[in-house]
Amino acid sequence: MNDFTFKETFFKRCESSNFGRNSETGRTMKTDELNDTFKHKGLRKKLVQTLKEKGINDEKVLAAIASVPRHLFFDSGFLEFAYEDKAFPIGAGQTISQPYTVATQTMLLDISRGEKVLEVGTGSGYQASILAQLGAKVFSIERQRSLYNKVKGLLPKMGYMVKVFYGDGYAGLPAFAPFDKIIVTAGAPYIPQELIDQLKVGGILVIPIDDLGDQVMTTIRKGKDGALETREHGRFRFVPLLGDKAND
Ligand code: SAM
Repeated sequence: MNDFTFKETFFKRCESSNFGRNSETGRTMKTDELNDTFKHKGLRKKLVQTLKEKGINDEKVLAAIASVPRHLFFDSGFLEFAYEDKAFPIGAGQTISQPYTVATQTMLLDISRGEKVLEVGTGSGYQASILAQLGAKVFSIERQRSLYNKVKGLLPKMGYMVKVFYGDGYAGLPAFAPFDKIIVTAGAPYIPQELIDQLKVGGILVIPIDDLGDQVMTTIRKGKDGALETREHGRFRFVPLLGDKAND
């Protein structure tokens, strides 16, 4: 099977098994199971306003944040924290990223509908849902089995058809490469060559690189002949990108 036929067949199969956005809005919320009230929508509007004031100016990204119910990625006891512009613990020593960080990384990825995106560090699944909302075909890897199991069940229920994998993100997903865009959502000590190798020509890798205790948000664009153009976008704070799968 040639590459094109493989991809066509893969995505047809995935569509029929609930992969990809399955409606114009990117999700089919089952309101009987997942509660998204006017109050939540109002809180999201306020969050979007906060992000605008902090300099997020990409309307598509802001619309995605306005539409993805972040509270559904929180345990029910902590819902009041869901629309603060803060990171929050999600178990297994990990966090759901701060909305400002999610918005910044998403803006830097510059997603077009239909692009194939690899996320390293699924965590709660929130960032992956934002990418799916923007029309990306999202593949996401998580090294903590408990988080992987939770997200694998949650995202399809919310209608976000992200393909989630349990594994070590340093290795990427060679079986599904190349990717138009790659996002790493944990602080990396260096840029893994495997991720560069799995990026298409013209593709963008967004990765926070460790530096003196926090991370520098870095984009790498792969040019023709493999030349890499690197840019820096300020300092952020992430949990570390850890090696191998966790034994939890
Ligand atoms: N994107 C997530 C979200 O929207 O909730 C937040 C990610 S959290 C800041 C970082 C995640 O990276 C954690 O869930 C952690 O377990 C995961 N992680 C760390 N090292 C990893 C690795 N080598 N491969 C895959 N995931 C990794």
